[in-house]
Amino acid sequence: MSHAIRVQATGGPEVLGWEQVPTPEPGPGQVLIHHAAIGVNFIDLYFRSGLYKTPLPMTPGMEASGTVLRLGAGVTDFAEGDRVAYVSMPLGAYAEKRVMPADRLVKLPETISFETAAGMMMRGLTAQFLLHRTYKVSPGETILVYAAAGGVGLVMCQWAKHIGAIVIGVVSSAEKAAIARAHGADHVLLADEDIPARVRDITQGAMVPVVYDSVGRDSFAASLDCLAPLGMMVSFGNASGAVPPVDISQLAAKGSLFLTRPSLVTYTAKRAALLAGTEDLFDVVQKGLVKIEVDQTFALKDAAEAHRALESRKTTGSTILKP
Ligand code: NDP
Repeated sequence: MSHAIRVQATGGPEVLGWEQVPTPEPGPGQVLIHHAAIGVNFIDLYFRSGLYKTPLPMTPGMEASGTVLRLGAGVTDFAEGDRVAYVSMPLGAYAEKRVMPADRLVKLPETISFETAAGMMMRGLTAQFLLHRTYKVSPGETILVYAAAGGVGLVMCQWAKHIGAIVIGVVSSAEKAAIARAHGADHVLLADEDIPARVRDITQGAMVPVVYDSVGRDSFAASLDCLAPLGMMVSFGNASGAVPPVDISQLAAKGSLFLTRPSLVTYTAKRAALLAGTEDLFDVVQKGLVKIEVDQTFALKDAAEAHRALESRKTTGSTILKP
């Protein structure tokens, strides 16, 4: 037996129950992993609250690191004792031990700790695809990044600076503004300011070619008003709630804009893409160009506290759970 967080019915953080569960056996193509650290991501809150649907009961979590305990039939790329990490469906990472499809795992270099790995697979691979694939940011471009002191946000700030971009961040407090600045944001706006007006001042009227908006409902309309003609609106999260249906004629009226709602799941669906993104991420982390800030660590059984901290906007950088 081992322990896991179980959700019997969706709701607030209190639905995250700590239960004894049978340790699963790895089936063909699977491995059993003993988790060392587990990533807490905003998407975990969407599944817990019911905003994103999944069959119940369920164990949340899409990201973790740990050691391979046992191999299922046909697994040849991994060995018992390997250090591994993942960010992937199916859900189930909030557990001491779990099985995962081997083709969703990556091997962890000795230079990357389990804690750093659990703090960066989701956030780092998301920053990688957003900055390099959804919209390819070029040196000298000015970009707008929401929740700039958050998990994805701090990686975006640092990585965009490495590319040579000028970063305008949006955060909710002066403390978070200082953290975003310390990680490379050139300008930091407070969420209650007139964001399009500030972007107009900073860019001397040019506006920005891309907005990375993870806040959703509260920021979507202002984000469209920050874009230059032919700009790309990247709506990649719903921290404030889901964006209501959009009248696409707005995109023409506001300058022939592009709108995308990307998901890491699509961008890493092919193993080659997962490995290429991971190689890129490990490279910038190992060279010290992107530092993964694990600012909050909770015991796995206290996952509810981690969720409360994240949804009340008290966190910065990454949040992890320790079994
Ligand atoms: P963060 O650490 O960034 O936490 C979310 C932040 O959103 C908060 O700290 C807060 O920053 C901001 N926020 C704005 N409005 C609200 C609100 N009403 N309630 C709570 N927070 C709010 O989380 P993650 O790094 O885990 O994820 C960042 C975003 O990226 C999320 O929206 C997530 O869904 C999205 N994401 C999308 C992926 C994809 O594939 N599309 C993959 C990974 C993440 P502040 O206080 O400064 O406003």
